[in-house]
Amino acid sequence: MKAPLLETFTRLITNTGPISVSHYMAESNAHYYGGRDPFGAAGDFITAPEISQMFGELIGLWLADIWIRAGRTEPVHYVELGPGRGTLARDALGAARRYGLDPRVHFVETSTSLKALQLEMHPQAFWHADLSTLPSDGPLLIVANEFLDALPVRQLVRTAAGWRERMVGLDEGRLVPVAGTAPMEVAVPTSRRDAPEGTILEISPASAAVVYEVAGRLATQGGAALFIDYGHAEPRFGSSLQAVRAHRKVDVFSAPGEADLTAHVDFSALAPIALSRGVRWLGTEEQGHWLRSLGIDARADALAAAAPLHAEAVRTARDRLTGEGQMGALFKVMGITAPDWPDGAGFERTD
Ligand code: SAH
Repeated sequence: MKAPLLETFTRLITNTGPISVSHYMAESNAHYYGGRDPFGAAGDFITAPEISQMFGELIGLWLADIWIRAGRTEPVHYVELGPGRGTLARDALGAARRYGLDPRVHFVETSTSLKALQLEMHPQAFWHADLSTLPSDGPLLIVANEFLDALPVRQLVRTAAGWRERMVGLDEGRLVPVAGTAPMEVAVPTSRRDAPEGTILEISPASAAVVYEVAGRLATQGGAALFIDYGHAEPRFGSSLQAVRAHRKVDVFSAPGEADLTAHVDFSALAPIALSRGVRWLGTEEQGHWLRSLGIDARADALAAAAPLHAEAVRTARDRLTGEGQMGALFKVMGITAPDWPDGAGFERTD
């Protein structure tokens, strides 16, 4: 039997024609996250906070440090976008409280099953379906780890006839990528229109909208935000869409709603959007470099010394988070703050 979403898409495309990649990704992920806990060894993938408590702890220290240097304004709100199991929030808030930062907790989450898990770990939190209902009475300390990569991307493809939307159609009962019919030149920046046939340009209006909203909030009510994800700090061409199931890459179009669909985050497109709202862009650093500047090596040594039986596991986790060939270089950390907030630890750029 076909998976339910595959059947729905097949029926839809048969009746009304191909759907956009963006539509395909949005509905697939809504279905995927809505009905399961995808994390951990028994799940489909593992994220940094699930690898080690050190990740969330260092984020909590980063937030406490910048909040203290900005003048300890209260009330202050911790906001996490797509908090998964709630593990990062638990570790970050635990570390922050040791430095006097005890914010109200807000989660932006759409998945019913993950909300239930988050409630168990954070009974005092407030939930939001999007950013519009977040409080406006104080600074926001916003964290988004592997959130933007799950938001739908739009793909444009250069065909012999010009730029077209990349769509999902049917070929002998299988979902396959096809080019749309409407000319899409206007959606491609002029500097990038002259690419060879077959070139794919990926853009993420949904990520742009989130960063626009976050930056606007920081500019008017104060605060800082960290966006952490795999992606690149320079513009690129090509499709980065991938599907992961049971820790393996699978075909993007074979099992909609049953695998995690993600795309690399184009940080080079997000920085100008933040700047357009008048906030400070602290930089986009490699995760390995950022965590090392924040003291992950010392924290790993302390944890290893406190529990010698786990010393090896702690060092392996540290290497996984920071190693060049592991998460250290592929993952980036982008920091932005309110215009009158200070520099953040781990970012080299200051202005
Ligand atoms: N930050 C967590 C989870 C990452 S997975 C971690 O690092 O482990 C992506 C998270 O974003 C999940 O919690 C998922 O349910 C949520 N999510 C995906 N799309 C969303 C959307 N459009 N709005 C709100 N949450 C979303």
